Amino acid sequence: MNRYAKDFPILGQQVNGNPLVYLDSSATSQKPFQVIEAVETYYKQYNSNVHRGVHTLGSRATDAYEGAREKVRRLINAESTQEIVYTRGTTTALNIVASSYACPRLGEGDEILISPSEHHSNLIPWQQVAKKTGAALKYFTLEPDGTLDLEKAKQAINERTRLVAIAQVSNVLGTIFPVKELAKAVHDRGGVIVVDGAQSVPHMKVDVRELDCDFLAFSGHKMAGPTGIGVLYGKKELLEAMEPVEFGGEMIDHVDLYESTWKELPWKFEGGTPLIAGAVGLGAAVDYLEQVGMDTVAEHDRKLAAYAVKRMEEVEGLNIYGPREDRMGIVTFNIEGVHPHDVATVLDAEGIAVRAGHHCCQPLMRWMEVAATARASFYLYNDEADIDRLVQGLQKTKEYFGNVLR
Ligand code: PMP
Repeated sequence: MNRYAKDFPILGQQVNGNPLVYLDSSATSQKPFQVIEAVETYYKQYNSNVHRGVHTLGSRATDAYEGAREKVRRLINAESTQEIVYTRGTTTALNIVASSYACPRLGEGDEILISPSEHHSNLIPWQQVAKKTGAALKYFTLEPDGTLDLEKAKQAINERTRLVAIAQVSNVLGTIFPVKELAKAVHDRGGVIVVDGAQSVPHMKVDVRELDCDFLAFSGHKMAGPTGIGVLYGKKELLEAMEPVEFGGEMIDHVDLYESTWKELPWKFEGGTPLIAGAVGLGAAVDYLEQVGMDTVAEHDRKLAAYAVKRMEEVEGLNIYGPREDRMGIVTFNIEGVHPHDVATVLDAEGIAVRAGHHCCQPLMRWMEVAATARASFYLYNDEADIDRLVQGLQKTKEYFGNVLR
């Protein structure tokens, strides 16, 4: 166990008679004491609705809820907390951009450009926008190793491209996409860029002003925070021009019988009682990650990815997908002749948690010419010993299936 793992109580357990090795942080990360305790303290000591009561508990809850927003602002270096909208997660954030920004603005003759490697959450909303508006949905061409050739990508962006939507880090290939350069290219043509930060914000320093992205979506649960909370960052002038998606309490300024007006940003996008405990937990997660240091987290991630690729390449018959170098801590693979679900099942018997399936990326699976894969993904609480256990487990998997390659 490394020094961070001790902060994560769930990791100290046995699973199927073996010490747990959790290698599924891309699906959801584990939570440190600090986050669990922050949520518990909220419920035990100041559970109350926000922005309403004049009573003390209400003020404490509001301070914690809005204080967490400031922490998130700082983490991604947004200019103002008005640009930080709490959502249920990445999926909700991307859907808000699709329905409130793109649908009213795009039409026939316009193009939306995305990558075939996108998670369904950053793919289906754009299919829907295309269907509703008549805009054309286009795809970047990926190189065989799952990277983008920047020059080709820039050529794909033209004056019809109104919106580029891309993950900064692929949840399957671990590829880091050149978001900053793509942002410049699309801005030069008058379009906007939507960045899916679900796998980047938890693992590296993401600075929205440096990237100059127009929107950024991410989820609390993948960055040591609770489930049910996420963030939509948007440039203020864009969010200001957008209509709310949900209407009701909390998001209004003045309500009349037939007309209503909205609160200012970010609250006009936060209709109803918000995710208070989630925000408190997210704030604690940001504190935790910042204490470790995002550069340290990223460095650790890259080191583990490099070590994992090297060790896993020693396993005969194991294919790794995605770039060999310059990748984040996500390693997707198959063992020839063994179904990935069987790989995950044998590993589970060893106490090793990996994910198997299409990873919400069916078009990418078709591009990779596979039905499914297994995926090991790492976070700050993993170490090389975990990868050694994984490799041992993979060797066992091969033995279990009769060393299929012989
Ligand atoms: N995009 C990417 C790249 C992801 O990895 C995920 C989660 N697997 C999502 C979007 C969706 O995130 P959520 O389910 O938290 O909304």
